[in-house]
Amino acid sequence: SEVATMMDVPVTKVISACMSLGMMVTMNQRLDAETLSIVADEFGFEVEFITADIEEAVQEEEDAPEDLMARAPIVTVMGHVDHGKTSLLDYIREENVIAGESGGITQHIGAYGVQLKNGQKIAFLDTPGHEAFTAMRARGAKVTDLAIIVVAADDAIMPQTKEAISHAQAAGVPIVFAINKIDKPDANPEKIKEQLASMNLLVEDWGGKIQSHDISAKTGEGVPELLEKVLLEAELLELQANPNRSANGTVVEAFLDKGRGYVSTILVQGGTLKIGDYVLAGQNSGKVKAMHDERGNNVEQAGPSTPVSILGLDGAPQAGDKFNVFEDEREAKTIASKRTQLQREQSVRTQRHITLDEIGRRIALGDFKELNIILKGDVDGSVEALTDSFQKLSTEEIQVNIIHKAVGPITESDVLLASASDAIVIGFNVRPMGNARQIADKEEIDIRMYSIIYDAINDLKDAMEGMLSPVM
Ligand code: GDP
Repeated sequence: SEVATMMDVPVTKVISACMSLGMMVTMNQRLDAETLSIVADEFGFEVEFITADIEEAVQEEEDAPEDLMARAPIVTVMGHVDHGKTSLLDYIREENVIAGESGGITQHIGAYGVQLKNGQKIAFLDTPGHEAFTAMRARGAKVTDLAIIVVAADDAIMPQTKEAISHAQAAGVPIVFAINKIDKPDANPEKIKEQLASMNLLVEDWGGKIQSHDISAKTGEGVPELLEKVLLEAELLELQANPNRSANGTVVEAFLDKGRGYVSTILVQGGTLKIGDYVLAGQNSGKVKAMHDERGNNVEQAGPSTPVSILGLDGAPQAGDKFNVFEDEREAKTIASKRTQLQREQSVRTQRHITLDEIGRRIALGDFKELNIILKGDVDGSVEALTDSFQKLSTEEIQVNIIHKAVGPITESDVLLASASDAIVIGFNVRPMGNARQIADKEEIDIRMYSIIYDAINDLKDAMEGMLSPVM
């Protein structure tokens, strides 16, 4: 109805325009940007998005190729609980203290950098687990270059191992396996490699391309070699950034410290951040008053792939928010407050993620090429049967991708993965567990539950043919 008023046309006409696009809408419904443009066009109007105006000021110019220099890889450690993620991160931190920076007590600031004996650097995101990784990705942040997936050699490939693999694959991030706990008498690294092979993940020892190394996060055995493999893998990525420009990057975490004010850990991805710079991070801004590494040492400047905790922002931005440096403090402030205002206005947000009902419309619009599905089921047999049938529904126009499948209930992590990968979640004889339902509602993720295989296949088929009758 708002759009109708702005264009001065009857609201019924707007509704029927939407219906001709295959959308059943009510007059109070908010339309997404794409639909708005098409509908407005039908009435001879052009839509100008104010968000775009604000964000234009934040757009960075592309770097000239000659300004780019090699940068250190940024690595996330994932894996099943108790397989040794934290132990590995701690071991690497203690063994590779950058010379001259050994003072101070380690504080977990969400990320840290190490310099290896050969001088090469690696930055680690110190929030082990795929939840943090995927939550950041769901917010649009591309931070991780490479994932180390830890598997305990005295255990097996576990559900969270599989999840971690799916999360890394969905993000297109190369994996290096760390087969851990080899100091234990009952460790059997070959069994893990065999299990990986049966999942079509062939590690190098098994004639494949995926790097893996047997390690002990307790004794440190194999860890230097693991890190060498990480660097080798990173080399293939040819990671580059321009250090000689104003900084940008991503917020890793932020909190309010009683004595010092807001403390934000950020990861510089391009340029160099200096004390005194005016920073805009999400809906917050401020002048960088001080910078510290994770040992509390003062840092004067931070170049690409360097994590630092900064003081001076006027609030706590969210993990995954991007940050930029501005010449002008006022400009940074204005954008921050406009963002806050927009956020408030858009809190009744329009659908951002794909739903089964929407597929037909998106296909008709011609911009929908892949349907991502996360499939959870009660038994392996049904999961495999559904995977096969879903994949067979792929057509020339639209590819069905099962980005993660597993036996078990629908978890928070499934929903986050769906949010980060614009996927729908299909549960067969299983239900959402814990907070999964609430998060799905908040993130507007479509969860469909079935108990008859035939129904699940038919619904998907109908949706892809644009025939699914909308759920009212
Ligand atoms: P996370 O849940 O993946 O972060 O796992 P932790 O790092 O907390 O490790 C879980 C348990 O396994 C702890 O009791 C560790 O001391 C132990 N652990 C981790 N790595 C090793 C290892 O290489 N060898 C042995 N023997 N124990 C390990």
